[in-house]
Amino acid sequence: MTGKHGNLILYGMVAGTILGVLGGYFVGDLFISTKVIGTMFLNALKMVIVPLIVASMIVGVTSLGDVGKLGWTTLKTLTYYLVTTGCSVIVGLVMVNLLTPGSGGSPLGAYIPEMVEASRGNSLLDVLVGLIPSNIFKAAAEGQILPLIVFSLLFGGVLSSIGEKGKPVIAFFVGINAAIMKLVMIIIYFAPLGVMALIGSIVAENRDTLGQLVSNIGLYSLTVILALLVHAVITLPLILKFFTGRSPLKYFYNMGEALATAFTTASSSATLPVTMELVEKKNEVDSRATSFVLPLGATINMDGTALYEAVAALFIAQIYDVDLTMTQQIVIFLTATLASIGAAGIPHAGTVMMVFVLTAVNLPLEGIGLIWAVDWFLDRCRTTVNVWGDSIGAAVISETKEFKESSVTT
Ligand code: ASP
Repeated sequence: MTGKHGNLILYGMVAGTILGVLGGYFVGDLFISTKVIGTMFLNALKMVIVPLIVASMIVGVTSLGDVGKLGWTTLKTLTYYLVTTGCSVIVGLVMVNLLTPGSGGSPLGAYIPEMVEASRGNSLLDVLVGLIPSNIFKAAAEGQILPLIVFSLLFGGVLSSIGEKGKPVIAFFVGINAAIMKLVMIIIYFAPLGVMALIGSIVAENRDTLGQLVSNIGLYSLTVILALLVHAVITLPLILKFFTGRSPLKYFYNMGEALATAFTTASSSATLPVTMELVEKKNEVDSRATSFVLPLGATINMDGTALYEAVAALFIAQIYDVDLTMTQQIVIFLTATLASIGAAGIPHAGTVMMVFVLTAVNLPLEGIGLIWAVDWFLDRCRTTVNVWGDSIGAAVISETKEFKESSVTT
C-alpha cells in the first residue's frame, strides 16, 4: 500500500473522520445505525491480530540468527520502552503540576465505574503471573496478547536453535506472515468507511459529554491533551531524529492511516496490523525489527497511557484536596509506568489500570468516576500517542547493531 493508493486511503480516512464527527453530531440517529459497519471493520482488524502476532514474532526472532542477539535486542527494546515511557510520565507530571486542573473542583458525582470495580482485586503480580499462559489456545481465543508474545518469543528462540529440523517450520511461519500482511492491506482499503462509521457512532452516542470536554472537566482534558502533544510533537520526534536521522514530519505523514486507525478504534492492538504495514512498507524500517518490536510495543509500550495515568491521578488528588508529597509523586511515576506496561491495548484499559496507581497512594477509586465521562475521547488521544511511540521505537531499534550487522536469513 504505497504511493498513490496509500495517499488516497489516508485522505479518505481524514475525510471519513471529519464526516463522522459532523454526521455523528448533527444527524446522530443516522450515524448510530452505521455502527454495524464500524464493528465489521474493527472485527476484521481483530481477526488478523493473533496469527499476525504469532507469525511475525516468530519470523522476527528467527531472523535475528542467534539467541544471544535475541537477548540483547529484547533488552535494548525494553530499555527504550521504559525510558520513553518515563519521559512521557515526567511531561504529564510537570503539566498537571503547572496547570492544576483539579484545584477548586469538587468530588461531586464521583462513583466507581463497573469496569473498574471488576478489576479491584487484581494486582500487578497477577499481570506478571499471566505472562506465562497455561493454555496457549485459550490465550489466543481470549485475545491475551502478552502471553502469546511470550510463547512466540520462546518458540522462535528454540526454532532457530534446532538447525535443519526447524527450517521448514520457520518457512511455514514466513508464509503465514506474508499472507496475513496481504490480508491487512485488503482490510486497510475499507478503512475510510470503517473510520467514518466508528467515529460517527461514538460521537452520536456521546454528544452529551462533548460539552463536558470543554466545560467542567475541560481543564483536565486540556492538560492531558497538551501533555500528550508535548510528548508526541517534541520528545518523540527529537528521539527519532537523534537516533535515526529520519525526518519526523515524513515519518509522521507515512504513519497517517495507523494514527487515524488508533484514534478511531482506541486500541493499539487493533491498530497493530496497520502500524506494521506502514512502518515496513512506507517508512521502510527493517522488517526484522518491525516484526519483533511492534507486537511487543503494542502491548507494553504505552507512552500516552502512562502520561494519562499520572495526570489523572494528580487531578483526582487535587479534586479531593490531597497534597501529594514528592515521594508520593515518585510512587505515581513508578506505578503509572508499570500500569501502562500491564494495560492491554484495548479501549479503556488504561483507565481501569488507574486502580493500581490510586491504590498505591491511597487516593479514592471513586475519583475515576469523575473522569470516566470523557474517557471515550481521551482514550483515543492517548492510543494515538501510544501507536506513534511504537512506530518510532521500531525505527530506533532497527538502528541497533544487532540489526545492522546481521544479514536477512528469511
Ligand atoms: N486504549 C489504549 C490502547 O489501546 C490503552 C488505554 O486505555 O490507555 O493503547
